[in-house]
Amino acid sequence: MLLSITLNHLHQHRSYYYSHLNKFKSMNNLFSIFGVMLLLISCSKEDKYTIKETPDLTHLPFGGNSPTNILIRNQGNPQPNFLSLWLCGLPSNGTGAEDASAWTNPDGTWDYSKKPQVEGNVSWNHQFNISLDSKGNRIITGNNLPNHPTGIFPIQRGTYAWNYDKNPNIISEQSINLTLPAMPQPASQPSCVGFGPAGFSLTGAAIYHGASTLGTDAAAHEMLDRFGGHTDGTERYHYHFPAQDLQNHIHVHESGHSALMGYMLDGFGIYGPHGEKGEILSSADLDECHGHKHPVLWDGQMVDLYHYHWTYDFPYNIGCYKGTP
Ligand SMILES: [Zn+2]
Ligand SMILES: [Zn+2]
Repeated sequence: MLLSITLNHLHQHRSYYYSHLNKFKSMNNLFSIFGVMLLLISCSKEDKYTIKETPDLTHLPFGGNSPTNILIRNQGNPQPNFLSLWLCGLPSNGTGAEDASAWTNPDGTWDYSKKPQVEGNVSWNHQFNISLDSKGNRIITGNNLPNHPTGIFPIQRGTYAWNYDKNPNIISEQSINLTLPAMPQPASQPSCVGFGPAGFSLTGAAIYHGASTLGTDAAAHEMLDRFGGHTDGTERYHYHFPAQDLQNHIHVHESGHSALMGYMLDGFGIYGPHGEKGEILSSADLDECHGHKHPVLWDGQMVDLYHYHWTYDFPYNIGCYKGTP
C-alpha cells in the first residue's frame, strides 16, 4: 500500500517535470533520487510493521481461569474453540503457584523478564531415540530426562523462586515408549487434552499443555527453569513455555519458519513460534487446536502437513488434538 502510493508519487513528479519544465531535468533527477530514498525508507518501515520477528516478552496476556481460555469437556464444553485450551477434565484436588503479582503489569499483562526462574544446572543421564519402522510408524523411546541441564528441583527453600512456588517434587526417570503415525491425518473430530504428557520435545522430555491443575496459566504462575520446564507430582520433567534457551538448544532460528521442536501424541509435529515469513505467531494466527497446515520440513522432505506451533501466548502449545492421540 505504502509502496504503491510512493510509486504513484514518483510518476506524477516525472510526468509533470518532463512535460512542462524540461530545464529542471536535473532537479527532476534529484527528485527521483529523493523518491527512491523515500521508497527504500518506506519499504523497510513497512517490513518492520508487518513482520514482527522478536517477541515482546514483557507484556504477555494471562491465560486460564476465564470462561473462554479453558474449556472443560466433562463440565459442559463439548467442543474446542479458537484461542482456548480444551481440557478433558480438571482434577478437584489441584495444586500450584497462585501469586503472580510481582510480575503482573498495571495493564493486567505479565512480564516474563520479571518472573523468577528456578536456578541451577543439573545434568541428567539422558536416553532418547526416534526412528521410523517399515509399517509407517514413528517409534519414540526414552527415559524423559532432557539432554540439557535443568534447574534444581525440589525448588530450594530460600531461593527467590521458592517464595512463589514451593514445588516439592524431584525429577526422576519416566519410561517413554510411543508408537505414532509417521504421516498423521486429521481425525473426523478433534479431541480434548488430558493432564500429563501431551507430546515430547526433541530434547527428550515431555511437553505439557498450558494449564496448571488449578486451571491457571501454568507458564505465568509456576516457577520454571531457563528452559521453560519444571517437574510435578509424577516426578516428570516437562515444558510449559517456549523459552529461548529451549528453542536455541534444539535449533537456533535464523530466518523463515521455525524448526521442529517435538511431536504431539497424535503424531503431528510442533514447531517453534516463527511462521513461514519468519514472523512471530500468536494463538490468533492458528486454529482451535493451535496449529495450521502448509508445507513444512518433515523427515527431510517438504510436506503439506498440519502441525502445531509453540507461541508466547496461552495456550502456548496444543489447544486440542487435531489427529488421534
Ligand atoms: Zn507443569
Ligand atoms: Zn507453520
